[in-house]
Amino acid sequence: MQSASREQLIDRFGRVVDYVRISVTDRCDFRCVYCMEPDTRFVPRAQVLTLEELALVSRAFVELGVQKIRITGGEPLVRRNVVDLMAEISPLPGLRELVVTTNGSQLERLAPGLRAAGVKRINISLDSLDAERFRRITRTGDLDEVLRGIEAARAQGFERLKINSVILRNRNHEEVVPLVEFAASRGMDISFIEEMPLGVIGDHDRAEAYYSSDEIRRDIEAAHQLLPTAEQTGGPSRYFKLIEYGTRVGFISPHSHNFCEDCNRVRVTAEGRLLLCLGQEHSVDLRAILRSHPGDLAMLKQRIRKAMDIKPRGHDFSLKAQPIIFRHMNATGG
Ligand code: SAM
Ligand code: SF4
Repeated sequence: MQSASREQLIDRFGRVVDYVRISVTDRCDFRCVYCMEPDTRFVPRAQVLTLEELALVSRAFVELGVQKIRITGGEPLVRRNVVDLMAEISPLPGLRELVVTTNGSQLERLAPGLRAAGVKRINISLDSLDAERFRRITRTGDLDEVLRGIEAARAQGFERLKINSVILRNRNHEEVVPLVEFAASRGMDISFIEEMPLGVIGDHDRAEAYYSSDEIRRDIEAAHQLLPTAEQTGGPSRYFKLIEYGTRVGFISPHSHNFCEDCNRVRVTAEGRLLLCLGQEHSVDLRAILRSHPGDLAMLKQRIRKAMDIKPRGHDFSLKAQPIIFRHMNATGG
């Protein structure tokens, strides 16, 4: 419950924004085919928010009523000292959940630190259980390293671990059921994400590779019983339950089921751009404020409050058109 005295961020459409995804770096040790190009150029380090700036931004949002912060990237765990940042954010009064999305490559090393820093839930991306295919999709990733990372996280007893899988036709669509079983047998949840047209990519034609949530559900239901639930975790997933295991199976379906209507989130890019919508360019440059008025929490909060006036009603991703959003997901903060 939100206490009466706490401020809230409310946009023009009456939506309460209580969830922020903060990208702590646009860099990554993988080059997933749907996310970036092999030769992606990263933002010069001086333009990326410092850990102090990131901590101040987090504080501002929490004081404005944000209850959930997701640390993401790029690959958040390749940012040096990111665990210290999380330890600083997690005790902020009013914050209910600090969660992380990671590709898992650094988890074997960092899982204990993340747990100690107060992280409650971790989402780990995993698109294939076949080492060669995993390498093809991530271009540089090592499946074994990620599997060891998952085991290390399990050993820490986080409240919840979830696998995120992007499914592409003729790349990994036949792994839907094995991925569900992998997660279920380890007491983990799983969400399937439809590929979104963020940034131009050369690897594949997104319309051809499109594999809908309905097709994924059909594949799962051929092997297991799925029960629809009304459960919400404050994100865009629709959830089902895998009856034999109690595992939650989520679907993030920007194409087949637009999730804008009850959008409660905003994003901050690694450069400190406050993005009001994943699929639009409406944004506010928080870095400019952070650097012209260092440490000025009141000013920062004022800018964030005002930004709610430009949060768009929603977006409409098209499979056929070229992307209208030229940022790649790593730059956006997934
Ligand atoms: N590097 C971390 C990871 O991979 O989990 C965190 C950042 S990544 C951008 C966050 C999530 O976005 C991942 O689950 C990834 O699979 C997903 N993603 C990246 N590009 C995407 C795209 N074009 N469409 C849909 N999901 C995408
Ligand atoms: Fe890196 Fe995550 Fe993008 Fe893959 S999806 S390239 S792991 S940021």
